Amino acid sequence: MAEINLDDRGVVVVCAQCGQKNRLAYERLSGTVRCGSCKATLSAPGSPIEVASSADFDRLIARSSLPVVVDYWAPWCGPCRMVAPELQKVAARQAGRFVVVKVNTDALGDLGERFGIRSIPTLAVFDGGREIARSSGARPANEIEAFVEQATRTRSTS
Ligand SMILES: [Zn+2]
Repeated sequence: MAEINLDDRGVVVVCAQCGQKNRLAYERLSGTVRCGSCKATLSAPGSPIEVASSADFDRLIARSSLPVVVDYWAPWCGPCRMVAPELQKVAARQAGRFVVVKVNTDALGDLGERFGIRSIPTLAVFDGGREIARSSGARPANEIEAFVEQATRTRSTS
């Protein structure tokens, strides 16, 4: 999980072949990108990405070419710890279809406040720069996937 980070232009991943760090630009997350060093095809982020700052969060939401699933959580929250492994499964299975990020509402209280997060865990789906769905409470991976599928399908047909 520590191998994936956000910077001001994209998601930084480590090449599985050669260890080189590569940036996947937010606007091109849905495309195929090759490692700048060894030319191996880089896989889309397959783990939840911990958001380090609200500026990173805003850039990702505004520019991502894939839907973004946000898990609002806090270290003291028991149900959040149950969601974490489920979210890991979702991120691995849905790599390249949507991006999964985690927002620690203790560390990034401004985000929790701005989006009016009243209980955790809360899952939200962002697409095209805006929030399109939200759901509170812990749930297993297949229900999270169904929630995201439904949210993104609603948008594409409207
Ligand atoms: Zn490489």
